[in-house]
Amino acid sequence: MDGTTSTPVIRPAKVPGEVPASRYTRQTITWIRRWNDHLFSFRITRDAGYRFKPGQFARLGLYRDDGPKGPRYIWRAYSIVSADYDEFLEFYSIVVPDGDFTTRLAQLREGDGILIEKMNYGFLTLDRFERGRDLWLLASGTGIAPFISILADLGAWEQYERLVLVHSVRKVEELAYRDTVESLRGHEVFGEHLAADPSKLVYVPIVTRERLDGALHARIPALLGSGALEAHAGIKLDHERSRVMICGNPEMVDDTRHRLQNAGYRVSRRGEPGHMAVENYW
Ligand code: FAD
Repeated sequence: MDGTTSTPVIRPAKVPGEVPASRYTRQTITWIRRWNDHLFSFRITRDAGYRFKPGQFARLGLYRDDGPKGPRYIWRAYSIVSADYDEFLEFYSIVVPDGDFTTRLAQLREGDGILIEKMNYGFLTLDRFERGRDLWLLASGTGIAPFISILADLGAWEQYERLVLVHSVRKVEELAYRDTVESLRGHEVFGEHLAADPSKLVYVPIVTRERLDGALHARIPALLGSGALEAHAGIKLDHERSRVMICGNPEMVDDTRHRLQNAGYRVSRRGEPGHMAVENYW
């Protein structure tokens, strides 16, 4: 013994998922919108110092002490829906049956607290691309979240001639943010772009298990293969001019990426801009 530590220090056992308090802040839920029984959006307060680029994701944390797993912190990645200039942060979530995080998240109410890491992450951002002319945003399910933030970014409207948002869901009621996209025509800034060129923004809803007038009804990879997506959007996909972001269900993301890679698209890498950026949600 060296004389400096005569009494052994007994540290409390670390709770699973616990991270240093300096890595996160505690915020408050201020607004909740329930789309149906398994999909909802929510807003939380935002620290003035919290910065992100449209398309990035945050890591949200909750504390639980119920069930056989006992006390634990649970952290999950969540794409940011809101604009980088909004005072709040908005997220869009599924409720996974038996999901550790989302079954608890779905119980929270306005005024409840939630943890958020100070760092934000992700490469689904416009600066990942070589210059292009059309921006295609291909989403399944909750994968639309980062694209709503990107559509609220003036940079996207100025850099691209056409913005094409493709949202694939199973049921019509899962076409979340349709009203937000449609309301862009009346927006004081983006509305001006659309008044000058009404086809600058193309919204393509895809509903795979129900019929909806004006929607397509097959998976994104199949619609790419048949040419139906391009025909519906009225725009050709071509890696010289198209830049593509893909987000959501890993099967859709992988199938779509492979199809585009075969057509000459390169995935953007760190320090190596390409034509395509992808994000898998699980
Ligand atoms: P988990 O144990 O994490 O997941 C259980 C299973 O549920 C998964 O294996 C998968 O089959 C399914 N699942 C998970 N997430 C989804 C989903 N979003 N849609 C359909 N099925 C799913 N989720 C969101 O709801 N909104 C987001 O904006 C979002 N952004 C993400 C960004 C990134 C980069 C990543 C990696 C994931 C993102 N996720 C998002 C998924 C999220 O992190 C969690 O997986 C989800 O909240 C479920 O957590 P859980 O603990 O309840 O279930």
